[in-house]
Amino acid sequence: VRLFLALELPPSVRRALGAVRAELEERASGWRWVSADALHVTMRFLGEVDPELDARARPLWRAAAAGARPFAATLAGLGTFPPGGRPRVLWAGFDDDPPGSAAALAGALRQAARGLGLGLDRKERTFRQHVTLARARRGETVVRPVDAAVSRERFDIGELVLFRSRTDAEGARYTALERFPLVAEV
Ligand code: ATP
Ligand code: MG
Repeated sequence: VRLFLALELPPSVRRALGAVRAELEERASGWRWVSADALHVTMRFLGEVDPELDARARPLWRAAAAGARPFAATLAGLGTFPPGGRPRVLWAGFDDDPPGSAAALAGALRQAARGLGLGLDRKERTFRQHVTLARARRGETVVRPVDAAVSRERFDIGELVLFRSRTDAEGARYTALERFPLVAEV
């Protein structure tokens, strides 16, 4: 099964990003947009994992999350990856409060992943938390969108979620498999 660990966004924030999409869709062509209900912040991509390893890993994800503090977040402006050259991914920034909270959780997950023999993946070496809004359509040159006003609503992050990813005709579909609360105290 194809798995990843992520933070969920509250419905109001996903709706606000849906409005950003509506505003940009006409002007910024060539993008394949992530549906509003699927928007998330990837903390660690696991890739294909066999069920036995998945079962062994879950207590470690739970422990890593339990050792992390809940935190607050707000969305920041839009950006694209890669930093130079042809944009492939359009994202919204994700500011955590206190700063470094998401990176600390990602670090704990990385440690746990190492213990399981799951190596570093390429993107992870430059972990930068973000919400992927759209990906460039294959073979298309995209228009880099001008910045749009993004909701500054503050919201709480209190759990890490293990997702399964399946690709069908309509694109990727994510299913939450298990939730791991962030419980450490300040
Ligand atoms: P699709 O691949 O069908 O376009 P998707 O990228 O949303 O859709 P997945 O590839 O299963 O679906 O990815 C699930 C999540 O993990 C997404 O947030 C994606 O950005 C992230 N991800 C995918 N591959 C990697 C990787 N190699 N390193 C880090 N994160 C990744
Ligand atoms: Mg992908």
